Amino acid sequence: MLITDVLVAGAGPTGLALAVDLARRGVDVRIIDQAPAHFAGSRGKGLQQRSLEVLADLGVGDAVAAAGWTPPTRVTVRGGPVRESPPGDALILPQSIVEAILRDRLAELGVTVEFDTALIGLAQAADHVVASTSRGDVAARYLVGCDGGRSTVRKTLGVPFEGESSDATSVVLGDVEVRGLSRECGHLFIDPARGMLALTPFRAVPQWQLVAAAPDVGEPSAAEFRRQIDLFTGLSDVTIGEPTWMSTYRVNVRMTRQFRVDRVFLAGDAAHVHPPAGGLGMNTGIQDAYNLGWKLARTLAGTASPTLLDTYQQERVPIAEWTLETSRSGLGSMWSSVTNGEGSLDAVRRPEHRQLELGYRGGPLSRDLVPWDGPRAGDRAPWLAEIGGGGFTVLGFGAAAEALDALHGATVRPMPGDQDVLVLVRPDGYVGMVAGSGDVQQVQDYLDRP
Ligand SMILES: Cc1cc2nc3c(=O)[nH]c(=O)nc-3n(C[C@H](O)[C@H](O)[C@H](O)COP(=O)(O)OP(=O)(O)OC[C@H]3O[C@@H](n4cnc5c(N)ncnc54)[C@H](O)[C@@H]3O)c2cc1C
Repeated sequence: MLITDVLVAGAGPTGLALAVDLARRGVDVRIIDQAPAHFAGSRGKGLQQRSLEVLADLGVGDAVAAAGWTPPTRVTVRGGPVRESPPGDALILPQSIVEAILRDRLAELGVTVEFDTALIGLAQAADHVVASTSRGDVAARYLVGCDGGRSTVRKTLGVPFEGESSDATSVVLGDVEVRGLSRECGHLFIDPARGMLALTPFRAVPQWQLVAAAPDVGEPSAAEFRRQIDLFTGLSDVTIGEPTWMSTYRVNVRMTRQFRVDRVFLAGDAAHVHPPAGGLGMNTGIQDAYNLGWKLARTLAGTASPTLLDTYQQERVPIAEWTLETSRSGLGSMWSSVTNGEGSLDAVRRPEHRQLELGYRGGPLSRDLVPWDGPRAGDRAPWLAEIGGGGFTVLGFGAAAEALDALHGATVRPMPGDQDVLVLVRPDGYVGMVAGSGDVQQVQDYLDRP
């Protein structure tokens, strides 16, 4: 049987980002999805700053920037004045467009999503894994389950998915064309006695995203959307078209702490699900993928330490824990601000939602050999716009720049400064090592076998 390097199960944002990262590194990757065709809804509609850096490195920065925007929001609290809330940091665009852009990039790299192909089981061997799919068996060196919150891969592995789920449906959402409201901003209508209605226009498609959160929401339908608009706005001149996508949402706060079982990995919603407050889900999945991509590529190329793949779980579990806690507390604060009539968006637009401060300090790949005033090992490297990503870079600050010539396997770059320090930046844009000019061998060892 032919063995592919990596099989990605699930072509949502996580699976697509991973497939792009692997394909651009020359890894032989296949990506399957059980759906007959691509997903067409707006669902996760915000790309955070860190994801924008990642997507730029994956070659789609301009495409997402052109398709998204950062609108202000007009907040109307029943019985209160209308307030303009300034734009947040996240780039607003439908998840379906993010996925389409990633699919196009993947096609450029010669890989197409194999739709209508469900993973139904898997069996692990010493040096490969065989996935049973609805279209036959696929053998791969590694399998990554990016198959969403109900992940078949996770269930087949039998790893616990700890946390809580609510049975109550209190949110309906969908994509509809809206007339009678300005397209120049988002609109948030708050009724402290009932809940909230958010209407967000997009740049790239005529539809808006409608989200109604109230204890009495019914099944999603055009009539239900109309009813919620009437109840929340009282504006009869606001009209809507036929919804092109509809869904309901229940609060789930769950994660696994086993992101890896031998040759099988879990990423994105397959590994963690949480409330949408703060807009972190799709972003955290894309960043899981970005953490794993280079590690799989190095391991397949035989240029990694045997423990490099373990670091995926070691580094991403704490991030998932942070994401669950941040979105859970954000949801609570947002709901308080709705019910007390304040209507503030602060709870879902905190600086930490940009995910720029997240990192891997103290983690297995973070080594501080010398002190300095700059970022520590594990921090996101702040020079990415200048140095780019994708591979290892070693920056030589001050007199340490003279040591750069002795290094191989990395892009090297002298940097101005009065501290003599070598800073090794990982392929995913985090500082891996801070070293002195006498530590060239340690830096080289890191580059040779991270
Ligand atoms: C109301 C709402 C608002 C949200 N807002 C935001 C936001 O602003 N920002 C944000 O970052 N996130 C947001 N999210 C969350 C975001 O939508 C998810 O976190 C994101 O879709 C997860 O991506 P994923 O690729 O991991 O999984 P998914 O998008 O669920 O993709 C999984 C894919 O796997 C496929 N699949 C499933 N089972 C199998 C199988 N057995 N075999 C093969 N394929 C399979 C599915 O068809 C699907 O295409 C929001 C979610 C909701 C519901």
